[in-house]
Amino acid sequence: MKVVLEHLTKKFPNRNKKIKGDVIAVNDFTFEIPDGKLIGLLGPSGCGKSTTLNLISGLEKPTSGKVYFGEDDVTGLPPEHRGVGLVFQNYALYPHLTVRQNIVFPLENLKGKDKLSKEAMEAKALEAAKLVQIDEYMERKPGELSGGQQQRVAIARALVKMPKVLLLDEPLSNLDARLRLQTREEIRRIQKETGITTVFVTHDQEEAMSISDMIVVMKDGIFQQMGKPQDVYDKPVNLFVAKFLGTPAINVFKGFVRSGKLYIGSDAVLDVDIPDKEVWVGIRPEGFIVDENGPFKCKLKGIEVMGRDTSVISENEELDGVTVRSIVPSDTAIDTTKETVSFSLKPYKVHIFDKTTEERIVTDAEA
Ligand code: ATP
Repeated sequence: MKVVLEHLTKKFPNRNKKIKGDVIAVNDFTFEIPDGKLIGLLGPSGCGKSTTLNLISGLEKPTSGKVYFGEDDVTGLPPEHRGVGLVFQNYALYPHLTVRQNIVFPLENLKGKDKLSKEAMEAKALEAAKLVQIDEYMERKPGELSGGQQQRVAIARALVKMPKVLLLDEPLSNLDARLRLQTREEIRRIQKETGITTVFVTHDQEEAMSISDMIVVMKDGIFQQMGKPQDVYDKPVNLFVAKFLGTPAINVFKGFVRSGKLYIGSDAVLDVDIPDKEVWVGIRPEGFIVDENGPFKCKLKGIEVMGRDTSVISENEELDGVTVRSIVPSDTAIDTTKETVSFSLKPYKVHIFDKTTEERIVTDAEA
């Protein structure tokens, strides 16, 4: 089931008297979530991710705009008539009910022609439990399960009615690092097996990039970019998206273009087909090549060997930040007695942004 958001806007009344006007949590969103895909909604805290999810589920009503499931306008429908499965950060399981009873619960409320026999409900609950590999714990209470197991029960409960759309709001936040990794792979597997269109909200860019077919990046209620994770990483539309994706983060320098050369300070670091102007230069950590004849010079501060890679830490006066972080293969020879490290740059790892609009400048070569 594809999901279409059309000029979707949600305003909340502002309770802060010092600030005038409403809070615009979601500002004129228009995009389509393709059928059967897993979409990661991504952005910093307060950017409107949960509100977007709540507008899709029907828990919130939009101030304006529409939500379509397939060709059907569901904007006026309450959550229970939309056929959505919801999973939140706090698993919200009933502590006094067993795993089986928790999973069966949504089926017990079905009425009329949808009403199921007790046997049919049990069979569906077992099927959902098997899908999330929790079927051996059916008679336990939530308090007798680990956090990861509880979250799987919550997912089974959301899946038991075979929703048209599965909505997950920070479902992994309460889990430790190892369980997070394991559970996110589980979610990916379950999503692939069921083919249910899924929207996954997180502020963790690595999490979103690792499991999503596509990511949507948001900032202050405003849609920034949608695309395959690698495409958004390789071709960010603006400086915000470039900075938001990637660990370590992209290195951003003040720069300028003169006569077809990109300068950072007095170093002409690359040839570019851009008219003369002031720019921001973003260089991904993996875009640096240690090269004693390289044009880009930084003050060497140290290196950190991290197994396969080495992190070179340096400084540059034009950097918008404290230290330049570059990642190079661990067999790279680096003379740490020297004060300066010279780099040449991989052009496709260098992004150039307009100084004022902060939009990425697409070079003729790329276009
Ligand atoms: P987080 O990652 O911290 O959960 P989020 O990206 O999910 O954040 P939302 O919860 O959607 O962000 O909130 C978006 C904006 O709308 C925030 O500025 C928030 O304070 C505001 N907001 C959300 N719900 C309400 C409400 N019921 N009343 C007033 N303002 C609200």
